[in-house]
This record gives sequence, C-alpha cells and structure tokens, in this order.
Amino acid sequence: MCPCGCGCGSDEEETVEKPVQVVMIPCKYCAALFPQTETFCPNCGARRSE
Ligand SMILES: [Zn+2]
Repeated sequence: MCPCGCGCGSDEEETVEKPVQVVMIPCKYCAALFPQTETFCPNCGARRSE
C-alpha cells in the first residue's frame, strides 16, 4: 500500500540504489565546482588544496 496514503499505489521503499554521490567542491581560485575526485580544477587548472 502506498505509504503516503495518496492512493498512487506505490509500495516502493526508499531502498532504491542511489548513484554514488560525487562531492562537488569549489575551486579556491576560480570558484568553479568540480568533483572532489579530481585533483585539478578543470576550469583553471589549479590543484585543489586537500
Ligand atoms: Zn579553478
């Protein structure tokens, strides 16, 4: 049964596999957001500090 009671018929629980959330960090130089997995800013090429 629909957990929200709206009758939509959805009985899915919140167990759907979520895609791996990539943490986006702002470049300290140009403020462009880039994935934490990247070592260098794709915008200005600066090396991320951590
Ligand atoms: Zn940058």
